[in-house]
Amino acid sequence: MNDFDYRSPRSLDEALAILGEYGEDARVVAGGTALVTMMRQRLVQPRCLVSLRDVQGLGRIEANGGLRLGALVTHRDAEVSPLVQERIPVLAETFRRVATVRIRHMATIGGALAHGDPNQDPPVTLLALGATVNIRSARAAREVPLTEFFRDYYETALEPGELVTAVTVPAPPARSGAAFLKFLPRTADDYATVAAAAIVTLERDGVRCREARIALGSVGVTPLRATSAEALLGGQPLGESLLQAAGEAAKTAVDPLTDHRGSAAYKREMTAVMVGRVLGQAWEAARRSAQARP
Ligand SMILES: Cc1cc2nc3c(=O)[nH]c(=O)nc-3n(C[C@H](O)[C@H](O)[C@H](O)COP(=O)(O)OP(=O)(O)OC[C@H]3O[C@@H](n4cnc5c(N)ncnc54)[C@H](O)[C@@H]3O)c2cc1C
Repeated sequence: MNDFDYRSPRSLDEALAILGEYGEDARVVAGGTALVTMMRQRLVQPRCLVSLRDVQGLGRIEANGGLRLGALVTHRDAEVSPLVQERIPVLAETFRRVATVRIRHMATIGGALAHGDPNQDPPVTLLALGATVNIRSARAAREVPLTEFFRDYYETALEPGELVTAVTVPAPPARSGAAFLKFLPRTADDYATVAAAAIVTLERDGVRCREARIALGSVGVTPLRATSAEALLGGQPLGESLLQAAGEAAKTAVDPLTDHRGSAAYKREMTAVMVGRVLGQAWEAARRSAQARP
Protein backbone atom coordinates (compact mmCIF):
# COMPACT_ATOMS: atom_id res chain seq x y z
CA MET A 1 0.00 0.00 0.00
CA ASN A 2 1.04 3.62 -0.45
CA ASP A 3 1.66 5.80 2.63
CA PHE A 4 -1.38 7.78 3.73
CA ASP A 5 -2.66 10.02 6.50
CA TYR A 6 -5.29 8.35 8.69
CA ARG A 7 -8.10 10.37 10.21
CA SER A 8 -10.82 9.15 12.51
CA PRO A 9 -13.50 11.86 12.88
CA ARG A 10 -16.26 11.51 15.49
CA SER A 11 -18.94 13.52 13.71
CA LEU A 12 -20.34 13.76 10.19
CA ASP A 13 -19.43 17.47 9.96
CA GLU A 14 -15.85 16.68 10.95
CA ALA A 15 -15.66 13.89 8.33
CA LEU A 16 -17.05 16.18 5.63
CA ALA A 17 -14.58 18.92 6.56
CA ILE A 18 -11.66 16.50 6.17
CA LEU A 19 -13.00 15.40 2.77
CA GLY A 20 -13.20 19.08 1.78
CA GLU A 21 -9.62 19.62 2.91
CA TYR A 22 -8.14 16.73 0.88
CA GLY A 23 -10.56 16.79 -2.08
CA GLU A 24 -10.12 13.87 -4.47
CA ASP A 25 -7.01 12.72 -2.56
CA ALA A 26 -9.16 11.49 0.37
CA ARG A 27 -11.05 8.24 0.55
CA VAL A 28 -13.47 7.17 3.26
CA VAL A 29 -13.32 3.70 4.71
CA ALA A 30 -16.29 2.04 6.44
CA GLY A 31 -16.04 -1.77 6.73
CA GLY A 32 -12.92 -1.84 4.56
CA THR A 33 -13.92 -5.14 2.93
CA ALA A 34 -13.66 -3.68 -0.57
CA LEU A 35 -11.37 -0.69 -0.12
CA VAL A 36 -8.49 -2.46 1.61
CA THR A 37 -8.26 -4.97 -1.25
CA MET A 38 -8.31 -2.16 -3.80
CA MET A 39 -5.54 -0.37 -1.89
CA ARG A 40 -3.44 -3.53 -1.68
CA GLN A 41 -3.83 -3.91 -5.44
CA ARG A 42 -2.94 -0.21 -5.82
CA LEU A 43 -6.14 0.38 -7.73
CA VAL A 44 -6.68 3.34 -5.41
CA GLN A 45 -3.93 5.23 -3.61
CA PRO A 46 -5.48 7.85 -1.34
CA ARG A 47 -3.31 10.48 0.36
CA CYS A 48 -5.76 10.42 3.31
CA LEU A 49 -7.97 7.65 4.62
CA VAL A 50 -10.99 8.88 6.59
CA SER A 51 -12.46 6.20 8.82
CA LEU A 52 -16.21 6.48 9.36
CA ARG A 53 -16.24 3.91 12.17
CA ASP A 54 -16.41 6.45 15.03
CA VAL A 55 -18.83 8.85 13.32
CA GLN A 56 -21.89 9.08 15.55
CA GLY A 57 -25.44 8.67 14.29
CA LEU A 58 -24.86 6.69 11.08
CA GLY A 59 -25.50 3.24 12.53
CA ARG A 60 -29.23 3.45 13.22
CA ILE A 61 -32.12 1.54 11.69
CA GLU A 62 -35.29 3.62 12.00
CA ALA A 63 -38.93 3.21 10.98
CA ASN A 64 -40.15 6.27 9.07
CA GLY A 65 -43.21 4.87 7.32
CA GLY A 66 -40.76 2.62 5.55
CA LEU A 67 -37.23 2.13 6.85
CA ARG A 68 -34.18 4.35 7.05
CA LEU A 69 -30.90 2.49 7.41
CA GLY A 70 -27.84 4.57 8.31
CA ALA A 71 -24.71 4.22 6.16
CA LEU A 72 -22.79 2.41 8.92
CA VAL A 73 -25.44 -0.26 9.47
CA THR A 74 -23.63 -3.50 8.75
CA HIS A 75 -25.03 -6.26 6.60
CA ARG A 76 -25.33 -8.40 9.71
CA ASP A 77 -27.21 -5.63 11.58
CA ALA A 78 -29.72 -5.46 8.74
CA GLU A 79 -30.01 -9.24 8.51
CA VAL A 80 -30.85 -9.75 12.20
CA SER A 81 -32.78 -6.52 12.88
CA PRO A 82 -36.32 -7.35 14.15
CA LEU A 83 -37.50 -4.08 12.56
CA VAL A 84 -36.20 -5.05 9.12
CA GLN A 85 -37.42 -8.64 9.47
CA GLU A 86 -40.89 -7.48 10.42
CA ARG A 87 -41.32 -4.51 8.04
CA ILE A 88 -39.45 -5.62 4.90
CA PRO A 89 -38.46 -9.27 5.32
CA VAL A 90 -37.06 -9.55 1.78
CA LEU A 91 -34.38 -7.03 2.77
CA ALA A 92 -33.23 -9.06 5.79
CA GLU A 93 -33.21 -12.16 3.58
CA THR A 94 -31.08 -10.39 0.95
CA PHE A 95 -28.44 -9.32 3.49
CA ARG A 96 -28.38 -12.89 4.82
CA ARG A 97 -27.31 -14.10 1.39
CA VAL A 98 -24.18 -11.90 1.24
CA ALA A 99 -20.83 -13.71 1.52
CA THR A 100 -20.01 -15.11 4.98
CA VAL A 101 -21.04 -13.95 8.43
CA ARG A 102 -17.52 -12.51 8.98
CA ILE A 103 -17.85 -10.29 5.91
CA ARG A 104 -21.39 -9.33 6.88
CA HIS A 105 -20.20 -8.18 10.31
CA MET A 106 -17.79 -5.73 8.63
CA ALA A 107 -19.46 -4.63 5.37
CA THR A 108 -21.75 -1.60 5.62
CA ILE A 109 -24.73 -0.46 3.60
CA GLY A 110 -23.08 2.85 2.72
CA GLY A 111 -19.99 0.98 1.53
CA ALA A 112 -22.07 -1.45 -0.55
CA LEU A 113 -23.81 1.42 -2.35
CA ALA A 114 -20.77 3.68 -2.81
CA HIS A 115 -18.62 0.80 -4.06
CA GLY A 116 -20.88 0.46 -7.13
CA ASP A 117 -19.99 -3.16 -7.81
CA PRO A 118 -22.77 -4.62 -10.01
CA ASN A 119 -22.22 -8.09 -8.49
CA GLN A 120 -23.43 -7.11 -5.03
CA ASP A 121 -26.78 -8.32 -3.70
CA PRO A 122 -28.33 -5.59 -1.49
CA PRO A 123 -28.45 -2.98 -4.31
CA VAL A 124 -30.63 -5.36 -6.34
CA THR A 125 -33.36 -5.66 -3.72
CA LEU A 126 -33.09 -1.98 -2.79
CA LEU A 127 -33.59 -1.09 -6.46
CA ALA A 128 -36.70 -3.28 -6.72
CA LEU A 129 -38.09 -1.75 -3.52
CA GLY A 130 -37.72 1.80 -4.88
CA ALA A 131 -35.10 2.95 -2.35
CA THR A 132 -33.38 6.34 -2.36
CA VAL A 133 -29.87 7.22 -1.23
CA ASN A 134 -29.32 10.04 1.27
CA ILE A 135 -26.16 11.99 0.48
CA ARG A 136 -24.37 14.82 2.32
CA SER A 137 -21.53 17.16 1.47
CA ALA A 138 -20.20 20.02 3.60
CA ARG A 139 -22.53 22.35 1.68
CA ALA A 140 -25.74 20.42 0.98
CA ALA A 141 -27.87 17.33 1.44
CA ARG A 142 -29.60 15.53 -1.40
CA GLU A 143 -31.61 12.38 -1.96
CA VAL A 144 -31.06 10.35 -5.13
CA PRO A 145 -33.34 7.52 -6.32
CA LEU A 146 -31.35 4.34 -6.67
CA THR A 147 -32.43 4.22 -10.34
CA GLU A 148 -30.19 7.28 -10.88
CA PHE A 149 -27.42 6.42 -8.42
CA PHE A 150 -25.50 3.70 -10.30
CA ARG A 151 -23.86 5.19 -13.38
CA ASP A 152 -21.37 2.63 -14.69
CA TYR A 153 -19.04 -0.16 -13.58
CA TYR A 154 -17.92 0.94 -10.04
CA GLU A 155 -19.22 4.44 -10.81
CA THR A 156 -22.00 6.19 -8.87
CA ALA A 157 -23.61 9.61 -8.70
CA LEU A 158 -21.44 10.53 -5.67
CA GLU A 159 -19.35 13.68 -6.24
CA PRO A 160 -15.98 14.33 -4.53
CA GLY A 161 -16.62 15.51 -0.97
CA GLU A 162 -19.94 13.65 -0.71
CA LEU A 163 -20.85 10.82 1.64
CA VAL A 164 -23.70 8.35 1.70
CA THR A 165 -25.44 8.92 5.05
CA ALA A 166 -28.37 6.51 4.72
CA VAL A 167 -30.67 4.58 2.45
CA THR A 168 -34.42 5.11 2.66
CA VAL A 169 -36.74 2.27 1.72
CA PRO A 170 -40.46 3.03 1.24
CA ALA A 171 -43.00 0.79 2.95
CA PRO A 172 -44.23 -1.90 0.56
CA PRO A 173 -47.81 -1.11 -0.55
CA ALA A 174 -50.88 -3.09 0.58
CA ARG A 175 -51.43 -6.37 -1.28
CA SER A 176 -47.78 -6.58 -2.26
CA GLY A 177 -45.16 -9.29 -1.95
CA ALA A 178 -41.44 -9.37 -2.64
CA ALA A 179 -38.72 -11.95 -3.20
CA PHE A 180 -34.96 -12.13 -3.76
CA LEU A 181 -33.14 -15.02 -5.41
CA LYS A 182 -29.44 -15.52 -5.93
CA PHE A 183 -28.16 -18.11 -8.36
CA LEU A 184 -24.65 -19.14 -7.35
CA PRO A 185 -23.66 -22.57 -8.57
CA ARG A 186 -20.10 -22.57 -7.17
CA THR A 187 -20.17 -22.00 -3.39
CA ALA A 188 -22.79 -20.65 -0.98
CA ASP A 189 -20.67 -17.57 -0.12
CA ASP A 190 -19.85 -16.55 -3.68
CA TYR A 191 -21.08 -13.56 -5.62
CA ALA A 192 -24.14 -14.32 -7.75
CA THR A 193 -24.02 -15.57 -11.33
CA VAL A 194 -27.41 -13.86 -11.58
CA ALA A 195 -29.35 -12.18 -8.74
CA ALA A 196 -32.98 -11.14 -9.08
CA ALA A 197 -35.46 -9.28 -6.87
CA ALA A 198 -39.10 -8.47 -7.50
CA ILE A 199 -42.00 -6.74 -5.80
CA VAL A 200 -45.52 -7.38 -7.07
CA THR A 201 -48.56 -5.35 -6.02
CA LEU A 202 -52.01 -6.75 -6.77
CA GLU A 203 -55.26 -5.02 -7.65
CA ARG A 204 -58.12 -5.05 -5.13
CA ASP A 205 -59.37 -8.31 -6.68
CA GLY A 206 -56.24 -9.95 -5.23
CA VAL A 207 -55.60 -11.61 -8.61
CA ARG A 208 -54.40 -9.15 -11.24
CA CYS A 209 -51.11 -7.32 -11.05
CA ARG A 210 -51.31 -3.57 -10.44
CA GLU A 211 -47.56 -2.93 -10.57
CA ALA A 212 -44.35 -4.96 -10.56
CA ARG A 213 -40.72 -3.95 -10.25
CA ILE A 214 -37.94 -6.35 -11.16
CA ALA A 215 -34.23 -5.73 -10.54
CA LEU A 216 -31.20 -7.75 -11.55
CA GLY A 217 -27.57 -7.99 -10.46
CA SER A 218 -24.38 -9.45 -11.99
CA VAL A 219 -25.73 -9.11 -15.55
CA GLY A 220 -24.62 -5.61 -16.55
CA VAL A 221 -22.28 -2.78 -15.58
CA THR A 222 -24.73 -1.68 -12.88
CA PRO A 223 -27.61 -3.30 -11.01
CA LEU A 224 -30.57 -2.70 -13.33
CA ARG A 225 -34.36 -2.73 -13.66
CA ALA A 226 -35.96 -5.08 -16.18
CA THR A 227 -38.54 -2.53 -17.32
CA SER A 228 -39.43 -4.41 -20.51
CA ALA A 229 -40.51 -7.38 -18.36
CA GLU A 230 -42.32 -5.13 -15.86
CA ALA A 231 -44.37 -3.61 -18.70
CA LEU A 232 -45.93 -6.98 -19.54
CA LEU A 233 -47.40 -7.53 -16.09
CA GLY A 234 -49.83 -4.65 -15.38
CA GLY A 235 -53.46 -5.81 -15.36
CA GLN A 236 -52.54 -9.46 -15.87
CA PRO A 237 -53.33 -12.51 -13.70
CA LEU A 238 -50.44 -14.81 -12.80
CA GLY A 239 -49.80 -17.68 -15.18
CA GLU A 240 -46.90 -19.83 -16.29
CA SER A 241 -46.86 -18.32 -19.80
CA LEU A 242 -46.76 -14.79 -18.37
CA LEU A 243 -43.79 -15.65 -16.13
CA GLN A 244 -42.01 -17.13 -19.13
CA ALA A 245 -42.75 -14.08 -21.27
CA ALA A 246 -41.44 -11.78 -18.53
CA GLY A 247 -38.27 -13.86 -18.29
CA GLU A 248 -37.74 -13.65 -22.04
CA ALA A 249 -38.34 -9.88 -21.98
CA ALA A 250 -35.83 -9.45 -19.15
CA LYS A 251 -33.11 -10.92 -21.36
CA THR A 252 -33.29 -7.78 -23.52
CA ALA A 253 -32.38 -5.62 -20.49
CA VAL A 254 -29.12 -7.37 -19.62
CA ASP A 255 -25.60 -7.21 -21.00
CA PRO A 256 -23.58 -9.73 -18.96
CA LEU A 257 -19.84 -10.31 -19.10
CA THR A 258 -18.32 -13.72 -19.69
CA ASP A 259 -16.26 -14.66 -16.61
CA HIS A 260 -15.50 -17.60 -14.32
CA ARG A 261 -19.14 -17.59 -13.16
CA GLY A 262 -20.45 -18.32 -16.65
CA SER A 263 -20.57 -17.17 -20.25
CA ALA A 264 -22.59 -14.14 -21.25
CA ALA A 265 -25.01 -16.42 -23.12
CA TYR A 266 -25.49 -18.65 -20.05
CA LYS A 267 -26.11 -15.67 -17.77
CA ARG A 268 -28.68 -14.32 -20.24
CA GLU A 269 -30.56 -17.64 -20.20
CA MET A 270 -30.35 -17.81 -16.41
CA THR A 271 -31.75 -14.27 -16.24
CA ALA A 272 -34.95 -15.53 -17.87
CA VAL A 273 -35.14 -18.47 -15.45
CA MET A 274 -34.48 -16.36 -12.36
CA VAL A 275 -36.94 -13.63 -13.35
CA GLY A 276 -39.69 -16.22 -13.84
CA ARG A 277 -38.93 -17.77 -10.44
CA VAL A 278 -38.57 -14.56 -8.46
CA LEU A 279 -41.76 -13.13 -9.96
CA GLY A 280 -43.64 -16.32 -9.13
CA GLN A 281 -42.48 -16.12 -5.49
CA ALA A 282 -43.22 -12.40 -5.17
CA TRP A 283 -46.67 -12.95 -6.68
CA GLU A 284 -47.43 -15.76 -4.21
CA ALA A 285 -46.37 -13.51 -1.33
CA ALA A 286 -48.58 -10.73 -2.70
CA ARG A 287 -51.52 -13.12 -2.91
CA ARG A 288 -51.03 -14.17 0.72
CA SER A 289 -50.85 -10.53 1.74
CA ALA A 290 -54.04 -9.70 -0.22
CA GLN A 291 -55.87 -12.62 1.42
CA ALA A 292 -54.74 -11.57 4.91
CA ARG A 293 -55.63 -7.89 4.36
CA PRO A 294 -57.75 -7.38 1.20
C1 LIG B 1 -14.65 -12.24 0.27
C2 LIG B 1 -15.77 -11.28 -0.07
C3 LIG B 1 -16.96 -11.81 -0.54
C4 LIG B 1 -18.01 -10.96 -0.87
N1 LIG B 1 -19.20 -11.49 -1.30
C5 LIG B 1 -20.25 -10.68 -1.53
C6 LIG B 1 -21.53 -11.18 -1.89
O1 LIG B 1 -21.74 -12.38 -2.02
N2 LIG B 1 -22.54 -10.30 -2.10
C7 LIG B 1 -22.38 -8.96 -1.96
O2 LIG B 1 -23.33 -8.21 -2.10
N3 LIG B 1 -21.17 -8.44 -1.62
C8 LIG B 1 -20.13 -9.25 -1.40
N4 LIG B 1 -18.92 -8.72 -1.04
C9 LIG B 1 -18.74 -7.27 -1.12
C10 LIG B 1 -19.04 -6.59 0.15
O3 LIG B 1 -20.41 -6.62 0.36
C11 LIG B 1 -18.55 -5.16 -0.04
O4 LIG B 1 -17.15 -5.21 -0.04
C12 LIG B 1 -19.06 -4.27 1.05
O5 LIG B 1 -20.45 -4.09 0.93
C13 LIG B 1 -18.42 -2.90 1.04
O6 LIG B 1 -18.77 -2.26 2.24
P1 LIG B 1 -17.65 -1.71 3.23
O7 LIG B 1 -18.35 -1.03 4.33
O8 LIG B 1 -16.68 -2.78 3.61
O9 LIG B 1 -16.96 -0.66 2.25
P2 LIG B 1 -15.45 -0.16 2.22
O10 LIG B 1 -14.56 -1.24 1.74
O11 LIG B 1 -15.10 0.53 3.47
O12 LIG B 1 -15.60 0.95 1.07
C14 LIG B 1 -15.98 0.60 -0.25
C15 LIG B 1 -16.04 1.88 -1.11
O13 LIG B 1 -17.11 2.70 -0.67
C16 LIG B 1 -16.64 3.97 -0.19
N5 LIG B 1 -17.48 4.27 0.97
C17 LIG B 1 -17.66 3.50 2.08
N6 LIG B 1 -18.61 4.04 2.85
C18 LIG B 1 -19.01 5.18 2.24
C19 LIG B 1 -19.96 6.19 2.54
N7 LIG B 1 -20.74 6.13 3.65
N8 LIG B 1 -20.12 7.23 1.69
C20 LIG B 1 -19.36 7.31 0.57
N9 LIG B 1 -18.44 6.40 0.22
C21 LIG B 1 -18.28 5.35 1.05
C22 LIG B 1 -15.16 3.77 0.08
O14 LIG B 1 -14.44 4.98 -0.07
C23 LIG B 1 -14.80 2.76 -0.99
O15 LIG B 1 -14.63 3.40 -2.23
C24 LIG B 1 -17.85 -9.55 -0.72
C25 LIG B 1 -16.63 -9.04 -0.25
C26 LIG B 1 -15.60 -9.88 0.07
C27 LIG B 1 -14.32 -9.29 0.58
